[in-house]
Amino acid sequence: MAAVNRLRFDTGRVCLDLLATVGGRLSSNPVERLTGPARLADWLDRAGVHPGAVPDDVDDVLLRDFQALRSRLHRILHTDVLGEQVGDSDLTQLNRVASAGGPPVLLARDASGAWRRRLVEPPRPEQLLAAVAADAIDLLGSPVRADLRECEGETCDLLYLDTSRGRRRRWCSAAACGNRHHVASLRARRQTQG
Ligand SMILES: [Zn+2]
Repeated sequence: MAAVNRLRFDTGRVCLDLLATVGGRLSSNPVERLTGPARLADWLDRAGVHPGAVPDDVDDVLLRDFQALRSRLHRILHTDVLGEQVGDSDLTQLNRVASAGGPPVLLARDASGAWRRRLVEPPRPEQLLAAVAADAIDLLGSPVRADLRECEGETCDLLYLDTSRGRRRRWCSAAACGNRHHVASLRARRQTQG
């Protein structure tokens, strides 16, 4: 699969990883990485929304609901990063989605005797959405919010948590946007010299 379609999980938060399922959002050809229900199931599993408990019946309806939640979270988080006021209706809807809560959990031991958090039953669709909405609430409503940054990449507006020492990280990914910037400035320098 082309690198541009690859799911990524390097923003530091589940809710930001959901925003990263659209690539090159500021380019002329943004890439939708949640291309179908199977892709969403893969994302849910790897993002660790409810580890080891992705239901079998992830369908088109849930995919559309996740895409809608993603649009809303994009609006809310970017508005906040710009220091502007998040709209009442977005806030109300976010809180509503999160209110479905999580499935009941049990504390149990696995075969090796280690503690494991186990779901009583597979999460319902609204509980999968709630987990991601709750992550955004937790992010905005906690001191971690101070580490939220937007990538400086020309065609990228991904948000990530800057936990680097000195808080000087500029890119969502040094390998992607950082490298692109490096190559572009090198080329520009050569042109001026040539
Ligand atoms: Zn970027």
